[in-house]
Amino acid sequence: MADGEDEERAARAGAAGAAGPPGARLAVSPALPALPASRELPLFAELPELSGQVPWRPLAHAPTPVVPCAAIEKYLGRGGVWVKRDDLISPLYGGNKVRRFEFLLADAERRGARTLVTVGGLASTQVTATALFGRALGFAVTAVLFDQPITRFGRGALLADAASGAELVHGGGYATTAVRAIRVLRRADRPYFILPGASSALPCLGYVDAMLELAAQVQRGEAPRPDRIVVPSGTGGTLAGLTLGAAVLGWPTTIVGVRITERIASNRAVVRYEIGSMKRLLARRAPRFTRRRLPPVRFEIDHRAIGPGYGMPTPASIAAIPEVERLIGVPGEVTYSAKALAALRGIAQERPRETLLLWQTLSSARPPLAEGGAAALPPAFARFFDGEIAY
Ligand SMILES: *Cc1c(COP(=O)(O)O)cnc(C)c1O
Repeated sequence: MADGEDEERAARAGAAGAAGPPGARLAVSPALPALPASRELPLFAELPELSGQVPWRPLAHAPTPVVPCAAIEKYLGRGGVWVKRDDLISPLYGGNKVRRFEFLLADAERRGARTLVTVGGLASTQVTATALFGRALGFAVTAVLFDQPITRFGRGALLADAASGAELVHGGGYATTAVRAIRVLRRADRPYFILPGASSALPCLGYVDAMLELAAQVQRGEAPRPDRIVVPSGTGGTLAGLTLGAAVLGWPTTIVGVRITERIASNRAVVRYEIGSMKRLLARRAPRFTRRRLPPVRFEIDHRAIGPGYGMPTPASIAAIPEVERLIGVPGEVTYSAKALAALRGIAQERPRETLLLWQTLSSARPPLAEGGAAALPPAFARFFDGEIAY
């Protein structure tokens, strides 16, 4: 990036209130030490043509550890279950959005965007990741949040979003959220829009790469090759990326997406479409990819854990919350991690001889929360902080 551009970006970050006085360089942002200076992407080693043909910048600390689920063997009822610790992927904020954002935020930078505009639920991890990584890179961030059942985790997410310096807009229902998001986009300075879930083909390449990362770990003897990988599935983007990655490797591994959103968002057709769009993107940017013969993709969607719907507690997910904490050191939540663990337990018992791997998608890094609690948020959010909540 040219010097002038750099300065301009630092100036706008300063104007937005996080990176010091106008004219200060990006490097003064206190959050930046949490970002790695560089890293080697296994995907670019596998497809050298691709490097430089897709936007990418380092944000993740990878490879992430792959270790046995020793701490929850009792809960699972057996050994032979491993966990890929993507919760540890960044000290700023971990979980499964970070690998995506290496592509997505590089794309925003390349297009000269100044403001990241996004939409998500009150507890959205994609919103929190956008807020934290966006602010760390000097973007202004505005998020329009739609209502979902409020949980302890959701309150924490709102306070983390507020502490990051992102502007939060209460969206309400889906229709009013859409209207408010359009209004925000119209007034934003050079906006770059990030869809709920941030799950298009380009960012999901991060999980094709992640699978190649796991393969290198297996090759080094850090873990056995799993027969089955279990991952929560919201938009299906992580599931699609891992599935395509397994096909690129020629692994017979089945990737199981534990559905945690409504059927309309997470189903076989959507995942097939996502895999297809990643393949087309790879074929366009790395023509040699087209000449490869890939084995058929192997994935399944497990519908048993969702219960009444997205973000809604079930008895099995409430019971799994402390097990998530045993596994990664922070309490789980009912939307993603606890439902995935409840499903993993069922699969472990149904398939006693298979080697399983849980792909951990929740962050165990806990970002700072806004001081003063609800008062740090716009008044429309106050009601989400009323009263006690059970989980
Ligand atoms: C976003 C998210 C998911 C869902 O991932 P998709 O790729 O949208 O299916 C699962 N778990 C956690 C913790 C997440 O933040």
